[in-house]
Amino acid sequence: MPLRTGAEYLASLNDGRQVFLDGERVADVSKHKAFREAARSVARLYDIAAAPDNRELMTFTSPKTGQPVLRAFQIPKTHADLRQRRLFSEKWAEATFGLMGRTPDHVAGFFCGYAGVPEVFAKGGQRFADNVVAFYEKMRDEHLYVSYAIVPPQIDRSKPAHKQSDPALYAGVVEERGDGIVISGAQQLATGGVLSDWLHLSCIHPLQPGDENYANCLAVPINAPGLKLYPRRPFALRADNAFDYPLSSRFDESDSYVVFDKVFVPWEHVFIYRNVEVSRDQWWKTTAHTLGNHQAQVRYVVKLRFLAGLAQRMNEMTGNVAAPPVQVMMGELAALASIYEGMLLAHETVSQIKDGVLWPSALTLYSAMAMQSELNGRMLEIVRELAGGAFITLPSSLADLESPQTVADVERYMRSASTDARSKVALMRLLWDFLGSEFGARHQQYEKFYGGASFLVKQNVYRNFDWKRAGALVDAALALPPLGAAD
Ligand SMILES: Cc1cc2nc3c(=O)[nH]c(=O)nc-3n(C[C@H](O)[C@H](O)[C@H](O)COP(=O)(O)OP(=O)(O)OC[C@H]3O[C@@H](n4cnc5c(N)ncnc54)[C@H](O)[C@@H]3O)c2cc1C
Repeated sequence: MPLRTGAEYLASLNDGRQVFLDGERVADVSKHKAFREAARSVARLYDIAAAPDNRELMTFTSPKTGQPVLRAFQIPKTHADLRQRRLFSEKWAEATFGLMGRTPDHVAGFFCGYAGVPEVFAKGGQRFADNVVAFYEKMRDEHLYVSYAIVPPQIDRSKPAHKQSDPALYAGVVEERGDGIVISGAQQLATGGVLSDWLHLSCIHPLQPGDENYANCLAVPINAPGLKLYPRRPFALRADNAFDYPLSSRFDESDSYVVFDKVFVPWEHVFIYRNVEVSRDQWWKTTAHTLGNHQAQVRYVVKLRFLAGLAQRMNEMTGNVAAPPVQVMMGELAALASIYEGMLLAHETVSQIKDGVLWPSALTLYSAMAMQSELNGRMLEIVRELAGGAFITLPSSLADLESPQTVADVERYMRSASTDARSKVALMRLLWDFLGSEFGARHQQYEKFYGGASFLVKQNVYRNFDWKRAGALVDAALALPPLGAAD
C-alpha cells in the first residue's frame, strides 16, 4: 500500500464512527468545527511523511511488502534505529509545535514494543503472540493511526475492577464466543480518539486476582458497532478566529472518554485475554512503554524549545531581554529545557540491546517523566513571571485591530519598541494560548498525567534505580579503615 496522503486520511474519517458532542452525534468529524482543523493538522503529518524529499528521514522499507512505511513502525534493534525514530517524531512534532501528544507515532511505539518481544504474549497462548505481531504489521503496512485507552474510569478507585458496583462499569469481557469476545464498559482517556483509525484497549493499572475480565489487550476499529466516544469540551469551538486563538484553533487533538456497548472483537484482534500476569508484563517486560513514551519526550522537548523561543521573543518586545535578572530567569528556563533534551538523548544512548531488540533506558525516561509534573509548572511560572501584564494589556480581539473606531489607539499604544501592534498582539496570543487559555490549561494537565499520575511514575523510577550500586558506596564508606591505619 503506498504511503498515505493527508487527503486520503481526511476522506477516511467519515466512516460512521460514533462521536457524541453536546448531546448529538457528530455526522463527520473531518467537517465539524470542533475537530476539523485538528484533523487537518494530522493530515499535514501524513503529507510530510509522504513527501518524496523526506523519504529517507520519514520511512523505511516494510520487510513484508517492500513498500516504504513510516519510521515510527521500525522496531529499534540498534542505537542508530532509535535515533532515527527520534528524528521522525521530531519532524512531526515540529509541525505541531509539540502541541499534539498522541499523533500516530505514539501508539505505534507501543506496538513496536509488543511485536519486538512477542514471547510475553505467548505466555497466554502462541496465538496471542501471533495476533499482536500480525496487527503490528497491519498498522505498519496500512499506515494506521491508533489511539488508546488504558486507564480504568475514575468511578471508585477504592475498589478493584471486579468489585465496582456494576461488573460492566470498567471495560471488560461480558461474553466469550467461538469467533471472538464481547466488551462492555468504559475506559479513559483516548486522546486523539476521534481522529484515529483504531482504538487500542488495555489496562495499565495494576489488576489483581478476580479482575480477569478486565485483563485484556485488543484493538477495535474506531467505527466498530457499539464503540462510542465522548470527547471533553472541544476548545476549537470557542476559538472563533485563528488570530486570537492560534493554537486552540489548530491543535486541539481532543480527549475522549470511551464507552464500549457490547463491542464484538474477533479473536485475531485480541492480544491478551483474561490474563492478569500478561496484562502487567506487556508494559514492563516489553519495550512498549519506553518506546511509546520516547515519542512523548521527543514531542515534549520540541514543545519546550517552542516555549523558550516564545518567551525570548516576548522579552525582546518588552525591551527586557538584556536585563541581567531576566537573563537569569531565562537561563533557568533554558537549563530545564536542556535537561529534558539531555535526558532524551541519554534515554537513547544508555539503552541496551537484549534478545535482538534495543531496550531504551527506563531509568532516564521515568526520571524525566516523574519530574515533568513539577518542572513543567516551574517553566510556565517563569514565563508568567516575566510577562507581567503582557498577556492582559491587549485588545479584546482581532476586530480592535481592524475597526476604524479602535485601530488608531491600538496601533499607537499597544505596539512595542521593536514591532508594530499587530505583531506584538499575534505573539502574545500565541503565548496566552500556550499557557493561559483553556487549551493551555489542558496542556498543563496533560504534561502532568499523560504518562500516569506522578506517584506511579516515581515508583517506576524506584524500581529501575541501581540501589545495589548506591548501597555498595555506603558499604565502602562504612568499611573505611581507622584513621592512621596502613593502606
Ligand atoms: C489531558 C490528558 C490526556 C490523556 N491521554 C491519555 C490517553 O490518550 N490514553 C490513556 O489511556 N490515558 C491518557 N491519559 C492518562 C490517564 O487517563 C489518567 O488521567 C492518568 O493515568 C492518571 O490517572 P487518573 O486520572 O485516574 O488519576 P488518579 O490515579 O486517580 O490519580 C489522581 C491523583 O490522586 C492521588 N492519588 C491517587 N491514588 C493515590 C495513591 N495510591 N497514592 C498517592 N496518591 C494517590 C494523586 O495525587 C494523583 O495524582 C491522559 C490524561 C490527561 C490528563
